[in-house]
Amino acid sequence: MTPLEQLEPRDVLLGRTTHVRRTLPHKTHRMVGAWCFLDHYGPDDIKETGGMWVPPHPHTGLQTVTWLFEGLGRHTDSLGSDQLIRPGQLNVMTAAHGICHAEVSPDDAPRLLHGVQLWVVLPDADRNAVPADFVHLADLPVFESGGATVTVLMGSLAGHASSAPTFTPLVGAEVRLSAGASVELPLETGFEHAVLAVDGDVDVDGTTVERHRLAYLETGQDTLRLQSSEATTVMLLGGEPFKEEVVMWWNFIGRSHEEIVEQREEWNGAGPDDVPRRFGQVQGFPEPRLLAPPLPNTRLKSRGR
Ligand code: MN
Repeated sequence: MTPLEQLEPRDVLLGRTTHVRRTLPHKTHRMVGAWCFLDHYGPDDIKETGGMWVPPHPHTGLQTVTWLFEGLGRHTDSLGSDQLIRPGQLNVMTAAHGICHAEVSPDDAPRLLHGVQLWVVLPDADRNAVPADFVHLADLPVFESGGATVTVLMGSLAGHASSAPTFTPLVGAEVRLSAGASVELPLETGFEHAVLAVDGDVDVDGTTVERHRLAYLETGQDTLRLQSSEATTVMLLGGEPFKEEVVMWWNFIGRSHEEIVEQREEWNGAGPDDVPRRFGQVQGFPEPRLLAPPLPNTRLKSRGR
């Protein structure tokens, strides 16, 4: 049996205040199914960090999936959405051809902020559609098994299906293990999977995965065993291996260097008082939008999983 592969997070500064642990994309696995980005942050004391403060910025070719374990967030976007983000509630933004949004900690947010921000790449057939209405799901399927409480965010698990919009076969779930829990979950054998150890060490199929690491599971596996002596939480992600080659740069996902150049121009090219037509603008945000950095001197390459 091949040893369980474990991906180490890297530290990235997001906006001005929030340090995140990024495990996707990773040099050995750029994606897990269509999940192409995984940032895990906190628990942070927002009295010290200042909280989340990410001014308006664009996205293309993806969905953002926001999930909090603790705290309170606020999402606003160029479609006019204005949504408080609470623990245990799913928030999905389908950017498709182009959208812009801002994410901040509201003034009355509690002290601790802890969550994950994920991106899902959209397949070619759907990526150029108009952006979809923001999806906020407060009521997700939950089931108990082997001392674990499982909440299904996207796709389905053990026959429990989320109504969140998906464009490729995938699954996303939060698994809360009580002390001494041992749970066996059925997996889609056509999916590759990953398990994020959110706040403690967890035993994945007999191997200890240290806190903050992402364990990677190849396709072909039909069950997953999670165990923990302490109460702890993990995120389970999976999906059909994504076959298309993509170019990911800054907040854009395209298929070629030229597309990214064009998207960057459409965002940065609009004057300070203009609305970039493709992306719109977040009304009433108290600071200017975030401009894209300069492109590298080399051509951006499309890459697969
Ligand atoms: Mn964003």
